[in-house]
Parts: sequence; C-alpha cells; structure tokens
Amino acid sequence: MSEPVMPKELVDKFGRHVDYIRLSVTDRCDFRCVYCMTEDMTFLPRQQILSLEELYRVARAFTELGVRKIRLTGGEPMVRSNVMWLIEKLGRLPDLDELLLTTNGAQLDRYAGPLKAAGVNRINISIDSLNPDRFTRISRVGKLEKVMEGIDAAIAQGFERLRLNSVIMKGYNEDEVLALVDFAVDRGIDIAFIEEMPLGEATEHDRKETTCSNAWVRSEIARKYQLLDSATRTAGPSRYTQIVGKPSRVGFISPVTHNFCADCNRVRITVEGRLLLCLGNEHSIDLRNILRDESLTDWDLQKAIVGSMDLKPERHYFYEKDHIQPVRLMNMTGG
Ligand code: SAM
Ligand code: SF4
Repeated sequence: MSEPVMPKELVDKFGRHVDYIRLSVTDRCDFRCVYCMTEDMTFLPRQQILSLEELYRVARAFTELGVRKIRLTGGEPMVRSNVMWLIEKLGRLPDLDELLLTTNGAQLDRYAGPLKAAGVNRINISIDSLNPDRFTRISRVGKLEKVMEGIDAAIAQGFERLRLNSVIMKGYNEDEVLALVDFAVDRGIDIAFIEEMPLGEATEHDRKETTCSNAWVRSEIARKYQLLDSATRTAGPSRYTQIVGKPSRVGFISPVTHNFCADCNRVRITVEGRLLLCLGNEHSIDLRNILRDESLTDWDLQKAIVGSMDLKPERHYFYEKDHIQPVRLMNMTGG
C-alpha cells in the first residue's frame, strides 16, 4: 500500500497556518536576567539536548512542511559550541525565506560578520538598560560595554531591520523607556518592548508588581515621539508603530495585556526536542524520541509534526483565574 502524501503546509484545527518556528539551540546562557532565569540555574545534561545535526533535521523537516521563517533562540544561541555550523547549514535550506536570530549581543562583536555571511537576515538584540550598573543588576552578570560593541558590529554589517528588545519592569528600568527609544533612533534601528511574561517564578521580584503594560510604555514614548500605527501587521503578538519623521519603528509585544492568539502562526522547539504548540500552555509532543529511534525516518518525524497541529490550543491564559501557568522558565521555552 502506498504511503499517504505529506501535506505541504501546516494548518491547525482553528485554520491557522504555521509557517514560523522558533528553534531553541541551547538552554544555557552567559547572562542570568532576573525575569528569565534564577541565579543558580541547573542546565540540562548534554545527552538530553538535541545535537546540532538533530536540530538541523528538525528545521529541514519543518521547511519541507511549509515553514518559511526560522528564529534561533535559547538560552543564548551564540554560547552553543559550533553553532555556526548549524547556522551555515540553515542558511542554505532551499525553502527558507528568513533566518532570524535573537541574542543578548554579548558576542556579536565576533560573530556579526560570520552571521551575515551565513545568510542570517535579521537580528534582535536584547538590551534593558543603558546604565552599566543597572544593566548588570538586571542581567546579573552581563557587561553593557560588550553588548554595545555587539550592536555596533551588527550595524556595521548592514543587517536589515536590526531590532532591540527591551523588557520594562517597575523598580528596575521604567525610567529608561525614552532613553532606550532615543538610543535606537540615533542609530536608525528598531526597538520592541516586551511585556514581562509569567513563565516560571522570578526569584527576585513578584512579577505582578514589576510588569509594565505596553499601553503605559507607549504613553511614555508619546511624551517625545509621535507614533503611527503601522498598516503592516505581523502575525503573533507584535504590533509595530512608525516614529514620525524617523526611520525607526517601535514594536509592542503585549502577550499579557492583549490576546492576539487568533492569528498565531508559530510553534516552538525546545532544545530537548519538545515541540511546544503554544508559549502559554504545556501542549507539546516529543520529537527527540523520533529523532533517536533508528527505525524511524524523516517521514515519521514529519507525520508527527503534522499530527501535532491538532493539539495547538486556541489561546493562552496568562494571569487568568483558575488557569495553571507554565512552570517553564523562558530559557527553557526558547524566547
Ligand atoms: N538570550 C537571547 C536574548 O536574551 O535575546 C535569546 C533568548 S531570550 C529568552 C529571548 C527574549 O525573551 C529576550 O528578548 C528576553 O528579554 C525575553 N524574555 C526572557 N524572559 C522573559 C519573560 N519572562 N517575559 C518577557 N520576555 C522575556
Ligand atoms: Fe540569557 Fe536571554 Fe534569558 Fe537573558 S533573556 S538570561 S540573555 S536567555
């Protein structure tokens, strides 16, 4: 009997097309940001994480199922040893339109050139403060100067639409919203503000007290800049605005105060090979078992991915009464 034909696109039971994956290449990091990790993190043992070859197999399987955009994330992608091998291979995948990276920027001074050469289209760089002491307080160990060098190196490589990511938290950096926007405007790059999400427990603060709504962040920016809502909508939780008279855009990623799940187009793959169908829920399937079973092939892998679409939940329920929040921290989730 002939095998059924594999579909060329991924569609869930709510009719949403999944054409974007966020692939976590490590749970490790050289920073310990207060909203993302605990100070004394235990990381996964090596045999539990996907090898670079396994990560490549997963990525290729998704592109053959219609995925056109891959974002590499983590943990900090650039601390994974030999990660450039993977990035170069991904950059050559024939069906991929965009290869993206989210990084803390601390190693971009070395890697910006090789990343550009490997075909990375866009980079998001996280930066939460322009004050060196505060930067170290928030990241616990990071050095602002290294990240600044990384940002300059990425700008020098001419990446399209370079974007900064900032998480604004009361008691940490809520007075720096305008300074961060000024910083982006001066460099002609974009900036996005991400609402702090309740993923795992933050050990140094109560998230309910620190989380700033993007409505408030926007009102801060409006004290100096005029923002025009952009006609171009990207799927998912980000909304972009154009700063009038400047090339920079300001994005607002508001998963806590807004629910944009209706046009969600993405799934995540954790570094353990768990295919997570939603950031705010635990629905997932294990791809690692399939990858490591020698009797199974890429066809079986794709069949499992196609089947998983039925598990994608309709929406997340952050801070909703009676809903159990994920215990996963962001570095395990693949931010
Ligand atoms: N290490 C890289 C970095 O920091 O950009 C990539 C991984 S990090 C988990 C991806 C993004 O998630 C960062 O921009 C970070 O600020 C954000 N993030 C981490 N924990 C978060 C949380 N609890 N709520 C909102 N954003 C968070
Ligand atoms: Fe590391 Fe990024 Fe998490 Fe900060 S946000 S601890 S840089 S993974």
